[in-house]
Amino acid sequence: MIEFRSVSKQYKGTKDYALQDISFHIQDGEFVFLVGPSGSGKSTIVKLLSAEEPITEGTILSNDFDLGSIRKQQVPFYRRTMGVVYQDFRLVRSRTVGGNLAFVMRVIGIDPWFINDRVDEVLELVGLSDKKNRYPEELSGGEQQRVAIARALMNRPKVVLADEPTGNLDPKLSMEIMQLFEQVNREIGTTVIVVTHEKNLVDQMDKRVIYLNAGRVMGDRLGGSYSYSMPGGE
Ligand code: ADP
Repeated sequence: MIEFRSVSKQYKGTKDYALQDISFHIQDGEFVFLVGPSGSGKSTIVKLLSAEEPITEGTILSNDFDLGSIRKQQVPFYRRTMGVVYQDFRLVRSRTVGGNLAFVMRVIGIDPWFINDRVDEVLELVGLSDKKNRYPEELSGGEQQRVAIARALMNRPKVVLADEPTGNLDPKLSMEIMQLFEQVNREIGTTVIVVTHEKNLVDQMDKRVIYLNAGRVMGDRLGGSYSYSMPGGE
Protein backbone atom coordinates (compact mmCIF):
# COMPACT_ATOMS: atom_id res chain seq x y z
CA MET A 1 0.00 0.00 0.00
CA ILE A 2 1.25 3.45 -0.91
CA GLU A 3 -0.33 6.58 0.44
CA PHE A 4 0.60 10.19 -0.27
CA ARG A 5 -1.05 12.55 2.22
CA SER A 6 -0.80 16.23 1.31
CA VAL A 7 2.77 15.82 0.10
CA SER A 8 4.74 18.85 -1.03
CA LYS A 9 8.30 18.94 -2.25
CA GLN A 10 10.61 21.89 -2.61
CA TYR A 11 14.16 21.16 -3.77
CA LYS A 12 16.99 22.83 -1.88
CA GLY A 13 17.83 26.25 -3.24
CA THR A 14 14.62 26.61 -5.31
CA LYS A 15 11.73 28.99 -4.80
CA ASP A 16 8.98 26.96 -6.46
CA TYR A 17 7.47 23.71 -5.28
CA ALA A 18 8.04 20.64 -7.50
CA LEU A 19 4.97 19.00 -5.89
CA GLN A 20 2.14 20.79 -4.12
CA ASP A 21 -0.30 19.11 -1.79
CA ILE A 22 -0.34 15.73 -3.55
CA SER A 23 -2.64 13.04 -2.18
CA PHE A 24 -3.38 9.58 -3.58
CA HIS A 25 -3.68 6.01 -2.44
CA ILE A 26 -2.46 2.92 -4.32
CA GLN A 27 -3.69 -0.45 -3.04
CA ASP A 28 -1.64 -3.63 -3.12
CA GLY A 29 -1.96 -5.30 -6.51
CA GLU A 30 -2.99 -2.20 -8.48
CA PHE A 31 -1.58 -1.18 -11.87
CA VAL A 32 -1.27 2.59 -12.10
CA PHE A 33 0.09 4.99 -14.69
CA LEU A 34 1.53 8.27 -13.50
CA VAL A 35 1.36 10.68 -16.39
CA GLY A 36 1.87 14.36 -17.11
CA PRO A 37 3.92 16.74 -19.21
CA SER A 38 7.61 17.38 -18.67
CA GLY A 39 8.25 19.22 -15.41
CA SER A 40 4.94 18.15 -13.86
CA GLY A 41 6.62 16.31 -10.98
CA LYS A 42 6.66 12.65 -12.10
CA SER A 43 10.36 12.06 -11.43
CA THR A 44 10.05 13.85 -8.12
CA ILE A 45 7.43 11.31 -7.06
CA VAL A 46 9.82 8.51 -8.10
CA LYS A 47 12.64 10.08 -6.08
CA LEU A 48 10.42 10.46 -3.00
CA LEU A 49 9.13 6.89 -3.35
CA SER A 50 12.61 5.45 -3.71
CA ALA A 51 13.73 7.47 -0.66
CA GLU A 52 16.33 9.35 -2.70
CA GLU A 53 14.95 12.78 -1.74
CA PRO A 54 13.41 13.98 1.53
CA ILE A 55 9.78 15.09 1.73
CA THR A 56 9.27 18.81 2.46
CA GLU A 57 5.71 18.60 3.84
CA GLY A 58 3.13 15.86 4.30
CA THR A 59 3.35 12.10 4.76
CA ILE A 60 4.21 9.15 2.53
CA LEU A 61 3.40 5.67 3.79
CA SER A 62 4.86 3.01 1.53
CA ASN A 63 4.98 -0.75 2.10
CA ASP A 64 4.69 -0.30 5.88
CA PHE A 65 7.40 2.37 6.05
CA ASP A 66 6.77 6.01 6.93
CA LEU A 67 9.18 7.73 4.54
CA GLY A 68 9.13 11.01 6.46
CA SER A 69 10.62 9.42 9.54
CA ILE A 70 12.49 6.41 8.12
CA ARG A 71 15.92 5.93 9.68
CA LYS A 72 18.98 5.72 7.46
CA GLN A 73 19.66 2.11 8.46
CA GLN A 74 16.15 1.12 7.39
CA VAL A 75 16.41 2.57 3.87
CA PRO A 76 18.08 -0.51 2.28
CA PHE A 77 15.33 -2.71 3.76
CA TYR A 78 12.66 -0.38 2.45
CA ARG A 79 14.27 -0.33 -1.01
CA ARG A 80 14.03 -4.11 -1.22
CA THR A 81 10.26 -3.76 -1.16
CA MET A 82 10.44 -1.56 -4.25
CA GLY A 83 11.91 -2.80 -7.57
CA VAL A 84 12.85 0.19 -9.73
CA VAL A 85 13.14 0.08 -13.53
CA TYR A 86 14.75 3.01 -15.37
CA GLN A 87 14.55 4.34 -18.90
CA ASP A 88 18.24 3.60 -19.56
CA PHE A 89 18.13 0.01 -18.16
CA ARG A 90 21.21 0.54 -15.92
CA LEU A 91 22.65 -2.93 -16.43
CA VAL A 92 26.28 -3.62 -15.51
CA ARG A 93 28.12 -4.06 -18.82
CA SER A 94 30.86 -6.28 -17.42
CA ARG A 95 28.41 -8.84 -16.01
CA THR A 96 26.35 -11.39 -17.90
CA VAL A 97 22.57 -11.28 -17.74
CA GLY A 98 22.64 -13.96 -15.03
CA GLY A 99 25.40 -12.04 -13.24
CA ASN A 100 23.38 -8.83 -13.26
CA LEU A 101 20.43 -10.64 -11.72
CA ALA A 102 22.44 -12.62 -9.18
CA PHE A 103 24.24 -9.52 -7.96
CA VAL A 104 21.17 -7.93 -6.34
CA MET A 105 20.72 -11.01 -4.16
CA ARG A 106 24.41 -11.62 -3.53
CA VAL A 107 24.86 -8.17 -1.96
CA ILE A 108 22.26 -9.01 0.65
CA GLY A 109 23.90 -12.31 1.53
CA ILE A 110 21.52 -14.86 0.00
CA ASP A 111 22.71 -18.46 -0.52
CA PRO A 112 24.21 -18.91 -4.06
CA TRP A 113 22.16 -22.07 -4.78
CA PHE A 114 18.99 -20.25 -4.01
CA ILE A 115 20.12 -17.29 -6.13
CA ASN A 116 20.74 -19.49 -9.18
CA ASP A 117 17.24 -20.96 -8.97
CA ARG A 118 15.71 -17.51 -8.63
CA VAL A 119 17.72 -16.23 -11.64
CA ASP A 120 16.32 -19.09 -13.75
CA GLU A 121 12.81 -18.42 -12.49
CA VAL A 122 12.75 -14.70 -13.29
CA LEU A 123 14.45 -15.20 -16.67
CA GLU A 124 11.72 -17.64 -17.60
CA LEU A 125 9.09 -15.16 -16.48
CA VAL A 126 10.47 -12.43 -18.78
CA GLY A 127 11.08 -14.90 -21.63
CA LEU A 128 14.88 -14.72 -21.70
CA SER A 129 15.99 -18.11 -20.38
CA ASP A 130 18.30 -18.52 -23.37
CA LYS A 131 20.17 -15.25 -22.68
CA LYS A 132 21.49 -16.03 -19.21
CA ASN A 133 25.14 -16.10 -20.27
CA ARG A 134 25.00 -13.16 -22.67
CA TYR A 135 26.33 -9.69 -21.92
CA PRO A 136 23.98 -6.68 -22.01
CA GLU A 137 25.54 -5.25 -25.18
CA GLU A 138 24.74 -8.49 -27.02
CA LEU A 139 21.03 -7.89 -26.43
CA SER A 140 18.51 -5.60 -28.12
CA GLY A 141 17.06 -2.64 -26.21
CA GLY A 142 13.81 -4.47 -25.56
CA GLU A 143 15.70 -7.49 -24.22
CA GLN A 144 17.85 -5.28 -21.99
CA GLN A 145 14.73 -3.72 -20.52
CA ARG A 146 13.34 -7.22 -19.87
CA VAL A 147 16.52 -8.04 -17.98
CA ALA A 148 16.11 -4.84 -15.95
CA ILE A 149 12.54 -5.87 -15.12
CA ALA A 150 13.76 -9.35 -14.16
CA ARG A 151 16.37 -7.75 -11.90
CA ALA A 152 13.73 -5.55 -10.27
CA LEU A 153 11.72 -8.71 -9.48
CA MET A 154 14.60 -10.76 -8.01
CA ASN A 155 13.91 -9.91 -4.37
CA ARG A 156 10.13 -10.31 -4.74
CA PRO A 157 9.29 -6.62 -4.23
CA LYS A 158 5.76 -5.58 -3.32
CA VAL A 159 5.94 -2.80 -5.88
CA VAL A 160 7.62 -2.33 -9.25
CA LEU A 161 8.20 1.34 -10.00
CA ALA A 162 9.14 2.05 -13.61
CA ASP A 163 10.38 5.50 -14.62
CA GLU A 164 9.79 6.06 -18.36
CA PRO A 165 10.64 2.39 -19.05
CA THR A 166 9.90 2.62 -22.77
CA GLY A 167 11.61 5.94 -23.44
CA ASN A 168 14.39 4.25 -25.42
CA LEU A 169 12.22 1.73 -27.27
CA ASP A 170 10.19 1.78 -30.48
CA PRO A 171 6.37 1.56 -30.26
CA LYS A 172 6.13 -2.21 -30.82
CA LEU A 173 8.74 -3.05 -28.19
CA SER A 174 7.19 -0.47 -25.86
CA MET A 175 3.86 -2.26 -26.04
CA GLU A 176 5.56 -5.60 -25.35
CA ILE A 177 7.20 -4.15 -22.24
CA MET A 178 3.85 -2.79 -21.04
CA GLN A 179 2.32 -6.23 -21.58
CA LEU A 180 5.12 -7.75 -19.52
CA PHE A 181 4.32 -5.34 -16.67
CA GLU A 182 0.68 -6.33 -16.98
CA GLN A 183 1.63 -10.01 -16.82
CA VAL A 184 3.76 -9.42 -13.70
CA ASN A 185 0.84 -7.57 -12.11
CA ARG A 186 -1.70 -10.23 -13.03
CA GLU A 187 0.33 -13.39 -12.37
CA ILE A 188 2.40 -12.42 -9.33
CA GLY A 189 0.15 -9.72 -7.93
CA THR A 190 2.98 -7.17 -7.77
CA THR A 191 1.77 -3.57 -7.62
CA VAL A 192 3.00 -1.81 -10.77
CA ILE A 193 3.48 1.95 -11.10
CA VAL A 194 4.58 3.15 -14.52
CA VAL A 195 5.67 6.75 -15.04
CA THR A 196 5.34 7.77 -18.66
CA HIS A 197 4.44 10.60 -20.99
CA GLU A 198 3.53 8.21 -23.83
CA LYS A 199 -0.17 8.82 -24.24
CA ASN A 200 -0.72 6.14 -26.89
CA LEU A 201 0.54 3.38 -24.64
CA VAL A 202 -1.53 4.54 -21.70
CA ASP A 203 -4.66 4.75 -23.82
CA GLN A 204 -4.17 1.20 -25.09
CA MET A 205 -3.71 -0.30 -21.63
CA ASP A 206 -6.97 0.79 -20.00
CA LYS A 207 -5.61 1.12 -16.44
CA ARG A 208 -5.87 3.64 -13.63
CA VAL A 209 -4.22 6.93 -14.59
CA ILE A 210 -3.04 9.59 -12.15
CA TYR A 211 -2.52 12.76 -14.12
CA LEU A 212 -0.11 15.43 -12.84
CA ASN A 213 0.34 18.97 -14.01
CA ALA A 214 2.56 21.66 -12.48
CA GLY A 215 3.13 19.60 -9.35
CA ARG A 216 -0.53 18.88 -8.64
CA VAL A 217 -2.84 15.92 -9.20
CA MET A 218 -5.25 17.08 -11.90
CA GLY A 219 -7.02 13.79 -12.50
CA ASP A 220 -7.22 10.24 -11.16
CA ARG A 221 -9.35 7.90 -13.19
CA LEU A 222 -9.77 4.28 -14.16
CA GLY A 223 -9.27 3.42 -17.83
CA GLY A 224 -10.22 5.40 -20.89
CA SER A 225 -7.99 7.96 -22.48
CA TYR A 226 -6.73 11.15 -20.94
CA SER A 227 -5.75 14.45 -22.39
CA TYR A 228 -2.91 16.78 -21.50
CA SER A 229 -4.91 19.71 -22.75
CA MET A 230 -7.84 19.09 -20.44
CA PRO A 231 -6.67 19.04 -16.84
CA GLY A 232 -9.12 17.15 -14.72
CA GLY A 233 -8.82 14.19 -17.04
CA GLU A 234 -12.12 14.64 -18.87
P1 ADP B 1 8.87 15.42 -14.62
O1 ADP B 1 9.51 14.15 -14.19
O2 ADP B 1 7.38 15.34 -14.70
O3 ADP B 1 9.48 15.97 -15.88
P2 ADP B 1 10.27 16.61 -12.36
O4 ADP B 1 9.80 15.90 -11.14
O5 ADP B 1 11.60 16.24 -12.92
O6 ADP B 1 9.13 16.53 -13.49
O7 ADP B 1 10.30 18.17 -12.07
C1 ADP B 1 9.29 18.88 -11.37
C2 ADP B 1 9.84 20.27 -11.05
O8 ADP B 1 10.91 20.17 -10.10
C3 ADP B 1 10.41 21.00 -12.24
O9 ADP B 1 10.07 22.37 -12.13
C4 ADP B 1 11.90 20.80 -12.10
O10 ADP B 1 12.61 21.86 -12.68
C5 ADP B 1 12.10 20.75 -10.60
N1 ADP B 1 13.25 19.90 -10.20
C6 ADP B 1 13.39 18.59 -10.47
N2 ADP B 1 14.54 18.12 -9.94
C7 ADP B 1 15.13 19.16 -9.31
C8 ADP B 1 16.34 19.33 -8.58
N3 ADP B 1 17.17 18.29 -8.34
N4 ADP B 1 16.64 20.56 -8.09
C9 ADP B 1 15.79 21.59 -8.30
N5 ADP B 1 14.64 21.51 -8.98
C10 ADP B 1 14.31 20.30 -9.49
